[in-house]
Amino acid sequence: MTGSALPETVVRDLLNDGTVLERVKVEDLLPVAAGVRPAALVVIPSDLPDALTLGGAIDALVSQRRVRWQAAVRPLARLRRQAEALREVYARVVEASASYRGLKGWIERLGLSAWQLEVRPTVRYLVVYRDPSPVPLLAELAQMLTERRKRIAGWVETDPKFAELLGKVLGYPACCLDNYVRHLAQGVPYEDGMAAQLAARVARGEEPDEAVFFAAGFLPCDPGCPAARAVGTGIREALAAWGPELAERCRQVCRHNLVEAARPPAERRRYVEVLERTRRLLGGYDEA
Ligand SMILES: [Zn+2]
Repeated sequence: MTGSALPETVVRDLLNDGTVLERVKVEDLLPVAAGVRPAALVVIPSDLPDALTLGGAIDALVSQRRVRWQAAVRPLARLRRQAEALREVYARVVEASASYRGLKGWIERLGLSAWQLEVRPTVRYLVVYRDPSPVPLLAELAQMLTERRKRIAGWVETDPKFAELLGKVLGYPACCLDNYVRHLAQGVPYEDGMAAQLAARVARGEEPDEAVFFAAGFLPCDPGCPAARAVGTGIREALAAWGPELAERCRQVCRHNLVEAARPPAERRRYVEVLERTRRLLGGYDEA
């Protein structure tokens, strides 16, 4: 099925549905349905439109349940009970929410499948795909997460092996993926390097091509990377088959990703600190 083979009425309905984020429609669901991305990553609950409300509901329920794991004397038992309580809260709040069920409904209506990876008890990666080719790598990722949980190995986002496998699933260009994984392995955040490269370009009066930033969370090896530009341009052209307006919406989403990538490191860190502090104030907890 090519992009245009998906009934236009289905695409229209999706574009008019306010319960799915514009970014999720334009950079994830439609490119995968069109066959121009092998898979896309939707982070749950943060990629749901009511993520803040859901996050607040999770925090409120978690603070009620804290007594369940605080009673455990041994640290391992405590962590296990905490994870169980958080999973139960996630199911009650997120899986029961209209926005999550709406998203799952769209995945089905577009003829797609979704593989859920538990990165933390209340954070899931929903990997959306059409053709089953990513399945063996997804199974490997799931296995890696299970192993890490047994060892209580901490947050997985900074694990180079995990990033490499996930990047392959998502079809990121090899040059960009190698570069990102190398930075992770060296403990140097590439996000800072990318922001500096973009700032230097703008200072030289160059306008970076937004097509290179075709997915949130993807960082090209260079703002001018031809492989990343080819992916981004391919996505835009496939979406244009459903109308020129969609190509423009694609441009806007990529432009937003570019602005995020250009955010100065100090500003980004401050933003993360504010988020973490808010979470602690709301009755925070550390998820292993
Ligand atoms: Zn590249």
